[in-house]
Amino acid sequence: MNMKLGCIADDFTGATDLTNNLVRAGMRVVQTMGLPDGTLQTEADAVVIALKTRTIAPAQAIEQSLQALRWLRDQGAIQIYFKYCSTFDSWYQGDVRGNIGPVTEALMAELGTDFTIATPAFPDNGRTVFKGHLFVGDALLSDSGMKDHPLTPMRDANLVRVMQAQCQSRVGLIDHRAVGTSSQAVRQQIEQLKSQGVRIAIVDAVSNDDLLRLGPAMADLPLVTAGSGVAIGLPANFGLQPHVRTSQLPAPRGRRAIVSGSCSQATLGQVQRFIAQGLPHWALDPSRLADETGLADAVDQALAWARSHPEQAVLIYSSAEPAAVRAIQQNMGVEAAGQRVEQALAAISCGLLAQGVRQLVVAGGETSGSCVQALGITQMQIGPQIDPGVPWCHAQSPLSPEGLHITLKSGNFGGVDFFTQSFQRLIP
Ligand code: ADP
Repeated sequence: MNMKLGCIADDFTGATDLTNNLVRAGMRVVQTMGLPDGTLQTEADAVVIALKTRTIAPAQAIEQSLQALRWLRDQGAIQIYFKYCSTFDSWYQGDVRGNIGPVTEALMAELGTDFTIATPAFPDNGRTVFKGHLFVGDALLSDSGMKDHPLTPMRDANLVRVMQAQCQSRVGLIDHRAVGTSSQAVRQQIEQLKSQGVRIAIVDAVSNDDLLRLGPAMADLPLVTAGSGVAIGLPANFGLQPHVRTSQLPAPRGRRAIVSGSCSQATLGQVQRFIAQGLPHWALDPSRLADETGLADAVDQALAWARSHPEQAVLIYSSAEPAAVRAIQQNMGVEAAGQRVEQALAAISCGLLAQGVRQLVVAGGETSGSCVQALGITQMQIGPQIDPGVPWCHAQSPLSPEGLHITLKSGNFGGVDFFTQSFQRLIP
């Protein structure tokens, strides 16, 4: 294998988002769910390993990320890309203010490098960074729906401050004056920051042009940490031209379903739209999931309902407004609520496949991780993009050895008609 870029993604939707951008920028990419067994046989310019480390404590996140790093280096990766969410959120508790910083520092130590960047900028999806502050659409991160995220709320938009609170190393900023000027100006600012003892720099970027100027300045860095946006500027460093290489996926077949555990604003809008169109939907009640019997009953009822709607795409969701989520969390605990809902939706996904669903939309990063693991999917082939950051994929599962179409939608991605449009996109 002739691997150039080795990527570690901290959640499953993030992994397909990154793969999608790399493929569109001209790379042949293999995406694995979890650490691969043994060596990969397929020729690829990049391998993206999807982990589920966004919402676990730093010690475990570091351990899994280092294992992935070692595997990627053993396979010959020249540069490592640590991919996190475009809203820069991750596990935190008490004084430990997130795991992006600790994982970044552990990867830097293992690679023996004294400098890297950090930027979740993804302008195609409205994530821009200016003067170190992250915007989600027109709002500062701290004013966006992320302030109410069920697991990882974000209440500070100043990424230099957010990252500094997570790191031992000094954190600085490559500002828009450099990124908006030239790759050379970025290189100069890197040298200047290094001379001041800065080891990690947040990078401003408000457009794809900024990211394309940033790309060449990253060529010599052993490690890049970012959302998926920076990926558009890296393949050119390896002599690859932007050109959409997405694979032709097999023809779609089977029934259609949507499983949604995301409570992000974009998803809530998509759920509302689906319901408003009079399409079949089933709300999972998290208060019934506290014990095993209640959970099993709730799963069975949802599946029995789905079986009675074989003709149309069905939506099964736990997605709820912040006040409802808070009420459940107060009763069950934040972690337990998240896990119980994920467990139920994962079991529902398996049941849907058993009923003949072969086109599956999953909404939510953690939710996707749980569903994909339960379905036993270990590799995915990337196909056409539905919306920025969200491609259709094709994968084998022990529950469907002949394969299924699946798309993993990060909570805040996708237009309001995403659920219906995704299926339209598969029609040849
Ligand atoms: P997103 O991509 O929008 O962040 P995730 O799936 O990553 O979505 O996270 C949503 C989390 O909230 C999951 O752990 C999920 O199980 C949990 N969750 C979903 N619905 C509810 C609910 N009604 N009450 C409490 N927690 C919920």
